Amino acid sequence: MQTPILKQLKIALGYDCNRDCGFCLQLRKDKSPFLDFSSVKKVMEEPMVIENVDRIILTGGEPTYYPYLETTLSIIELAHQMGKETCVFTNGDMLDANGLSTLKKAGLTRLRVSLYDPFSVFDTKRLMRRLKKYGFPAMAKYTVTKET
Ligand code: SF4
Repeated sequence: MQTPILKQLKIALGYDCNRDCGFCLQLRKDKSPFLDFSSVKKVMEEPMVIENVDRIILTGGEPTYYPYLETTLSIIELAHQMGKETCVFTNGDMLDANGLSTLKKAGLTRLRVSLYDPFSVFDTKRLMRRLKKYGFPAMAKYTVTKET
């Protein structure tokens, strides 16, 4: 039997978020201390990760939100130097021109925007246009609940 190979590494930095969605499973978890860059770096520099992993996914909570942003940018920069793709799972709230340009400069390759609210088609289109302008493939995930 072939040995499974780890191709993606998904890192949950912590569970804080600027939103408070009623259905969120992450916010109900322990408020344990969030991951710092040196702990993540140690994992990223494991031979198994260096040799096999193609993409590093950053999630939370919200990876672009205050306590995590600095770590998120450092991880993206390191992954970029290592020749790996990166993807940030985000609610999109921090993705103004400044936020997008900062993530792009760090070397981010993908963003997956999670949409929850009764989000208007207009807002979705506007956000996708902005992602395209900064060279990110447009990727969105809708969460559908009774409320939305
Ligand atoms: S945006 Fe995502 S992480 Fe934040 S509260 Fe909502 S579901 Fe949870």
